[in-house]
Amino acid sequence: MPAILTDPYGRRIDYVRLSVTDRCDLRCLYCLPEDHRDFAKSDAWLDFDEIERVIGAFAALGVQRVRITGGEPLVRRGLPLLATRLARLPGISDLSLSTNAVGLARHAAALRAAGIGRINVSLDTLQPARFKAITRGRLDKVLAGLMAARAAGFSPIKINMVVLRGINDDETVDMVEFCIEHGFTLRFIETMPVGATGQAATGHYIDLQEIRKRIERRYTLVPGVMPGGGPARYVQVAGTDLRIGFITPLSQHFCATCNRVRLAADGRLHLCLGQEHSYDFRPLLRAGASDRELQDAVIEAIALKPERHEFNEKPHQVVRFMATTGG
Ligand code: SAM
Repeated sequence: MPAILTDPYGRRIDYVRLSVTDRCDLRCLYCLPEDHRDFAKSDAWLDFDEIERVIGAFAALGVQRVRITGGEPLVRRGLPLLATRLARLPGISDLSLSTNAVGLARHAAALRAAGIGRINVSLDTLQPARFKAITRGRLDKVLAGLMAARAAGFSPIKINMVVLRGINDDETVDMVEFCIEHGFTLRFIETMPVGATGQAATGHYIDLQEIRKRIERRYTLVPGVMPGGGPARYVQVAGTDLRIGFITPLSQHFCATCNRVRLAADGRLHLCLGQEHSYDFRPLLRAGASDRELQDAVIEAIALKPERHEFNEKPHQVVRFMATTGG
């Protein structure tokens, strides 16, 4: 019998989001403050051997999917090497990456060769000046990264767009056109009140039902499906290959089917994006824990998983930034 990891609410946990750094080369206005410098020291990060051991413990207990994220994962030196090691772990069948794509043009081929199959790229706007205002970075680098990812053979490539009223909500149809043209999948995301920046951005919150109605004025949407372990609800644009996912943590939360946990770069496992419940693996690793002890710790940690987030009821609860938890 294959192992199955189950939380106290009967949910099967088969997905780990692995943050490899809390650093980022962008400062998205809903994620990190522009002057933010208060990152973890790199010796606080788990090294590749330690990461492999923790993910190996999860895999031994039935976790099959790992998504590498951050901060910005491409700023962690040697990432393709880590990806190669994780892709080879027994039990891991789906290794994916979330990136802002700023550095992707340089790394796409190596990451694909390392065994990463699927890739998600954050892209909130197609307008260079607006991109600068939202992220403080350069759009041309991201577009070059996306084209390199396509050339390297990643499939699917999903575009993640956080939709903000009065900032980029007028661009959702342009993004649909862009994704049809390039063969990308598109996901719209509601902004969440995580960290002071995320809480400040709630002034621009928009319910994605409204976006869906706007899209429906232009296109016929039919039910759609997409492979992947995530919470997006998909539709397809009739007459095209485009699938659009709606990720609605606030307007229609999906905690009842939550299948994931998040391992931060410093070895702390966060059991819920919207709660403070966590478990620290680093002391165990650095005290020489055996594989068996690590697996017992995983089971102990999963028992702490809360039932749901409370973004609507307690919007000021989560003080850590999304980049710290691992998005
Ligand atoms: N740097 C990588 C990237 O850009 O995909 C990975 C980490 S980033 C924190 C992961 C995702 O979290 C991005 O798609 C980003 O837009 C999203 N995100 C960050 N803060 C958010 C917030 N307050 N609400 C909703 N999504 C957020």
